[in-house]
Amino acid sequence: MTDLNQVIFSNINGQDPWSIQAYLSSGGYQTWKSILTDQINKHSPEKIIDAVSKSGLRGRGGAGFPTGKKWSFMPETSQQKYIVCNSDESEPGTCHDRDILKYNPHALIEGMAIAGFAMGATVGYNYVRGEFMIECFPRIEQALHEAYELGLLGTNILDSGINFNLHNFLGAGAYICGEETALLESLEGKQGKPRFKPPFPANFGLYGKPTTVNNTQTLASIPKIIQNGPEWFSSFGTEKSPGTIIFSVSGHINKPGNYELPLGISFSELLDYAGGMENDKSLKAVIPGGSSTKILPGEIIQNCTMDYESLQKAGSALGTGAVIVIAEGSCMVELLKRISRFYFAENCGQCTPCREGTGWLYRILDRITQGNGKINDLELLVDVANRIEGNTICAFGDASAWPVQSFIEHFFDEFEYMIKNKGKSIAA
Ligand code: SF4
Repeated sequence: MTDLNQVIFSNINGQDPWSIQAYLSSGGYQTWKSILTDQINKHSPEKIIDAVSKSGLRGRGGAGFPTGKKWSFMPETSQQKYIVCNSDESEPGTCHDRDILKYNPHALIEGMAIAGFAMGATVGYNYVRGEFMIECFPRIEQALHEAYELGLLGTNILDSGINFNLHNFLGAGAYICGEETALLESLEGKQGKPRFKPPFPANFGLYGKPTTVNNTQTLASIPKIIQNGPEWFSSFGTEKSPGTIIFSVSGHINKPGNYELPLGISFSELLDYAGGMENDKSLKAVIPGGSSTKILPGEIIQNCTMDYESLQKAGSALGTGAVIVIAEGSCMVELLKRISRFYFAENCGQCTPCREGTGWLYRILDRITQGNGKINDLELLVDVANRIEGNTICAFGDASAWPVQSFIEHFFDEFEYMIKNKGKSIAA
């Protein structure tokens, strides 16, 4: 089987891997220190951005945008610039960023310092999901304190002339703050509501200044990429989807958890890592990239590899790498109702198609499960979803529409059966 933990979690072994002593003894902060001592020749900002581009690293927060390209959008300017880490991990099924905060916080801090240097940002903020206040936030705060104590952050770091100050910020627990402009609004102390784009954060970000927002996993990958070179990183994965990713595997499997594996492994190998199907049930379907990505029936996902291109070709997306496995016997109507309830509750209410549409989607699904569905409800559900998709300020609208469209496309018979049988599930 393919080796686990070759990049982001490669240093996670031994006692207290989150401590700065453990991180230093595994070679941690070597990259940052070498940048501080040779910031002109070997590690100029241009060379770092070039290396990140060549590595093929794509944002792991869901959109998969090339990281080096995003960094290159930051303008040359004397204005204050910011690097912001999106640790507001809230997409249902996704649980890998919290493990980075808990077990490898210094990889994130080092990654943010390198990113800040490469883009000329002397201040960074790590926006942490409010619900992480108990375990993750104290851990990343402790790590930040340790890094300052060793003089690895601050002003004129190790007499290099480089400044980089980093702050952790605990959100208030709203899914929409994972959208990068809502996150920036929240950091500024306002309600977390997405901004109209353009302008994009690279030009008008935090406090109106040039800002880059990257996901936790993306930034935690940076130290190893710069240390070992872009070719090393791209030797994992496929040509178009290089590197490793942490798959969060949940649902009807024997060993739910996080598995860092190269992109492009087969779905069946990932399922083997997750211990196979619970109670030897057969596979019915998979949501491959967090609850907002389109569901794929078992017979389709079984022929897929787990990378951006293969899943897109199959009609879905890699998203956040959160793989939700669904066994035969599950009621797809109830499952879709639960997902729709989430998007109804979490939308920010700013634009009409999303605010009203998510409520309609949930209420129609609810009446179907209560035995009060009408036969044209399926057409109505798809119509409402289609009117939300592409017509909203942020991608949250699409995220609420895609599950409805794909569940009805692939499991139409189940929905129809429940309507005709007054709320009885075909799976019962
Ligand atoms: Fe808010 Fe939904 Fe509009 Fe996004 S799409 S801005 S979440 S109402």
